[in-house]
Amino acid sequence: MIEPLDRIEIVTADITTLRVDAVVNAANESLLGGGGVDGAIHKAAGPELLEHCKTLGGCPTGLAKITPAFGLEKSGVQHIIHTVGPVWHGDEAQKLGYTLEDTLLASCYHRSLTLAIEHGCKSLAFPNISTGVYHFPKQRAARIAFGHVLGFLSKHGLPEKVVLCCFSDSDAQVIQEAIDTREDWMMNRKRMG
Ligand code: ADP
Repeated sequence: MIEPLDRIEIVTADITTLRVDAVVNAANESLLGGGGVDGAIHKAAGPELLEHCKTLGGCPTGLAKITPAFGLEKSGVQHIIHTVGPVWHGDEAQKLGYTLEDTLLASCYHRSLTLAIEHGCKSLAFPNISTGVYHFPKQRAARIAFGHVLGFLSKHGLPEKVVLCCFSDSDAQVIQEAIDTREDWMMNRKRMG
């Protein structure tokens, strides 16, 4: 069996160029398109996606809905999973407890992964949800994204591969640091027995 950690890949790319079974869209509650990654996905998928989204009645923050991939199907993508990340209003100084935003962001990853399993997706790509115009602190978001995806893959055989798609090398570096910190912590824990 492949180790859960080896099923996670960090790439720097435009998410609309990836060949995966499903891409996750960082949408807003209306599901009617927006800027950032949402705009890029709608542009690549074409106007049929917007027409379909109009029938969905929006999506509350922390939840997810699935649609066909429309124009992205030509590159092998079968589904788009639209999840609504939280707008960050939290207090970065609050290191110990969870903020509501932390919980909602973890829920976005959980709901998206669950929908991916329900639709038999072998590969899934996430953008860095909420870290753009929603201003979630990037390191904090990276720890939640990586920690949650790793935990989920430890319990489930699907998706076989999860791509954490970053839009810049510096964002990819932030995710890599979250992984390295966690690995150091696991090694120390093993050493302490
Ligand atoms: P949010 O509203 O959830 O903050 P944004 O789209 O503003 O969503 O940003 C989320 C993340 O997606 C940011 O890290 C941003 O740099 C990244 N991003 C923007 N466009 C793309 C794209 N085409 N492919 C991958 N990531 C993207």
